[in-house]
Amino acid sequence: MDRRAFEGRCPRCKAGALFAGPVKFADRCENCGLDYTTFNVGDGPAAFLTMIVGAVVVALALWVQLAFEPPWWVHVILWLPLILLGVVGGLRLAKGWLLTTEYNRSAEEHRIDGSGPQ
Ligand SMILES: [Zn+2]
Repeated sequence: MDRRAFEGRCPRCKAGALFAGPVKFADRCENCGLDYTTFNVGDGPAAFLTMIVGAVVVALALWVQLAFEPPWWVHVILWLPLILLGVVGGLRLAKGWLLTTEYNRSAEEHRIDGSGPQ
């Protein structure tokens, strides 16, 4: 697996940043000019990661509640940052991996006129 996929770096030059915001792709690589808008990783990673992070956090919250019976604010302090870090961090990893995989495999959307890759 290509390490660049998880570093948030341009799949072509390995130097430019992939992201302009926490989970938003930049329009293009500031180093080599690769146009990131031609790639389409879709919304699949967001729903999938939210369900995974949600299941892990609920399981941990139930365990902490049953084992320690802490006051409610302990749950807020523990789980809100974990949810944010899990979803945002996971999205950056998943979106970076998907875009790099699309680049490496020259994946494109299907064109109805047949001009795309066969
Ligand atoms: Zn680049």
